[in-house]
Amino acid sequence: MDGRSVLLGVCAIALLALALVGLRSPSRNPARLPLSLLFADLFGINFAVLAKRLFESPGWAALEVALTAAAGPLTLHVVLAALGLARRRRGLLVALYAAFALLALPGPASVASREAATWVETRWPLFFLALWLPTLGYGVVLLVARLRRPASADDAMRARLLLGGLALGGTLAMMDLWRDVGVPVPYLSPVGMVAGAAVGAYALLRGPRGERGVAAASVVYAVAGAVAALAAYLGVFVLLRGSFALLAFGALFVTLVVALATRELSVAVTERRERLERLAVLGRFSAQMAHDLKNPLAALAGAVQVLEGMELGEAAEFVTLAREQAERVRVIVERYDRIGRVEPVKMPVRINEIAQSVARAQALARPAGVEIALDLDPNAGLVDADRDLVASALENLVKNAFDAMTSGGTVTLRTDREGGHLVVTVADTGPGMDDATAGQVFEDFFTTKKTGGGFGLAFVRRVAVAHGGEATVETQVGEGARFSLRLPA
Ligand code: ADP
Repeated sequence: MDGRSVLLGVCAIALLALALVGLRSPSRNPARLPLSLLFADLFGINFAVLAKRLFESPGWAALEVALTAAAGPLTLHVVLAALGLARRRRGLLVALYAAFALLALPGPASVASREAATWVETRWPLFFLALWLPTLGYGVVLLVARLRRPASADDAMRARLLLGGLALGGTLAMMDLWRDVGVPVPYLSPVGMVAGAAVGAYALLRGPRGERGVAAASVVYAVAGAVAALAAYLGVFVLLRGSFALLAFGALFVTLVVALATRELSVAVTERRERLERLAVLGRFSAQMAHDLKNPLAALAGAVQVLEGMELGEAAEFVTLAREQAERVRVIVERYDRIGRVEPVKMPVRINEIAQSVARAQALARPAGVEIALDLDPNAGLVDADRDLVASALENLVKNAFDAMTSGGTVTLRTDREGGHLVVTVADTGPGMDDATAGQVFEDFFTTKKTGGGFGLAFVRRVAVAHGGEATVETQVGEGARFSLRLPA
């Protein structure tokens, strides 16, 4: 492979990786899908150019033409969606897709006829430029107009970055076409596409301030996936190039695998995003409600205290009742408040010490016939965590174990170091749970207890997630339950 082929291969990997990042991204930006499709299209263009260089067949040039044509309307689609104009300018978009589709037609024709192939090589770029330059210009005009009257600071930043991305990608990527029509410019098309795409991805997938953007892990997976996909495509072409039918089948197979893997990933990401959003809304709601109830509750407690200092005769027992109920409400409000605020203040703590202090405190509250045991890994060491939150989570787990073991048993608090994680387990010898119950225990408000609120395990999970870890349960009916808190060490 010569230098230019290597450059094309590397740029193709980068573009496919950006497409995968786009599809995996939790961003709610309406431009996410057209942007990801545009990146996939640019990947296809680079791949077709690379394949054209490596394996001689007129099919590649045809594919390059069709995909290059698709890049035009997709680019404007991204700009319109990013500016929230895609719906209003739908007519224009449809017309543009149709016009560029017509422009793609000579591609397949060039496979059949030598004359058409020559025409595509010499004339087609001119037609493309004639359609592409006004499209690009219109996108630039729209972005400049938005820059003059941005809806917010984020909006202005997005428009500025998109403008930069368009200028970079839109002009550098065209260098190939200028060369085709005889203008002597350096060969920078693939680099231009990657640079423009990277700026576009940063502009649209970054997520506004305070919201989660693309996770670093997503980028790593996407790059790895793109390298694997490109290797698979090239492998298929090298192995099967003797037979066009086999080659087409192999390429289709690889495309299907990539599409399926990406779909699986994007469904998982969407579900996770929706769950996190639900949790965030619930958290804000709980914190607000707790905050609103605190003042009237304090006034009520104060009034009861004043009444308790008076000579009330028989009415005194009602005052005691009022005090007890006010105290109950205070405990409930505190629970809501805690659910709303799971914001760990992390510092290095010894997990064994936390387990020991929880066991000591809970030993005082254990029901008759229940024992607390400790099984601590002496090498557990330090973990970056919020001591209070982790202790509260463990307390919840121990209390649940107490509730479950109505006829006695043992609760064991165990610590283990497992690779990069510290795992704290609270295991009981109670009745355990069936699969249906176990599958719901971490949901908000799920409870099987008459007076339960269903907050405890939801809180435990929040604490785990807020630390970048996870909470899990292993259980079977009649075999007790083992709840684990895995924290990155
Ligand atoms: P609550 O304790 O208010 O019910 P939790 O979220 O702490 O809320 O627990 C939810 C449900 O999970 C409980 O109602 C119970 O059915 C089940 N559960 C929790 N811990 C255990 C356990 N150790 N053994 C059996 N079931 C449990």
